[in-house]
Amino acid sequence: MTDIDKFVRNTVRSLIPYSCARDEFRGKDGIFMDANENPYGTLNRYPDPYQQDLKSAISRIKEIPEENIFLGNGSDEIIDLCFRVFCNPGVDKALTFFPTYGMYEVSAAINDVELFKVPLSDDFQIDFEKLLPFLEAPNLKIIFICTPNNPTGNAMNGNIVETIIQKFNGIVVIDEAYIEFSEQPSIKTLTGRYNNLIVMQTFSKAMGLAAARIGMAFMDSKVVRYFNKMKPPYNISAINQKAALSCITHIELLKKRVRIIKTERERLASILKKMSIIEKVFPSDSNFLLVKTKDADLIYSWLIENKIVTRNRNKIIPGCIRITVGTKSENNRLITALSSIKL
Ligand code: PMP
Repeated sequence: MTDIDKFVRNTVRSLIPYSCARDEFRGKDGIFMDANENPYGTLNRYPDPYQQDLKSAISRIKEIPEENIFLGNGSDEIIDLCFRVFCNPGVDKALTFFPTYGMYEVSAAINDVELFKVPLSDDFQIDFEKLLPFLEAPNLKIIFICTPNNPTGNAMNGNIVETIIQKFNGIVVIDEAYIEFSEQPSIKTLTGRYNNLIVMQTFSKAMGLAAARIGMAFMDSKVVRYFNKMKPPYNISAINQKAALSCITHIELLKKRVRIIKTERERLASILKKMSIIEKVFPSDSNFLLVKTKDADLIYSWLIENKIVTRNRNKIIPGCIRITVGTKSENNRLITALSSIKL
């Protein structure tokens, strides 16, 4: 176990957090004259700042104790909080791989944190030899690993990921936004063994709740307390907490939809592989496919003309387009549009 306090910024360690009006009162009955709310209406009361009902439901489905769960306004808020809790602006550094999810870089820049980007291997895996010299870099506080990775779609080798968690004297953040679509198990159970590990998941993908903006992070309870100090008091609205709770009650339906999406992913991949305009369909552990095409810009524009919006990744991975798996009929429309392209 690492002494986690030493990674936390001094200002955060000594911070006296905002205390919510209702911090001293538990319970739903009472006459509330503390928070300057309007006594009339249905959404007139501030939500639970620590989202206890939702955390208890998440704890049940994820088998993680409530005290090890932090919830953010999407995973994007959690990424930002990682920088703000651990990295002194202009001094500390973070590391990720390339290509990967763009928000690590944007969030690093917003927080004035230099971000090292270590290239992935040709098959988009972590190249441990390339990473090794960075592990000792002065002031390197956080390593972000996205697995399954966006935009490449593949899961990272689990043994290498665990070696990094063991060897790195800092915080390792594993972004598992797409884990439900992968055959590889979640690494969330390792949070009990390594207190420098933060595992992020989200309600935005397999749970089908992107509009509600709810990200989850599983971590040491001490780190949860630091994150709670830093977050805006009411970072998840009552409406969104309710939506997430209701979503959990339909978990079996959501699992069924994940199975349908995975079946469609394989069907789509096998059809795309046969098309002459497509050079390669990369293996996917997620709900999207990265495809290498003969002319990404042209194909992307043709699809837009047909009102089919994909993600042109040509500038990041030459020739590549990222396609999110849709419903069967949406996928069929994509196939029809692609079939009509003559290159
Ligand atoms: N992580 C990854 C890898 C993502 O691809 C995305 C969104 N596309 C996010 C996090 C953001 O998730 P959220 O909607 O929970 O902010």
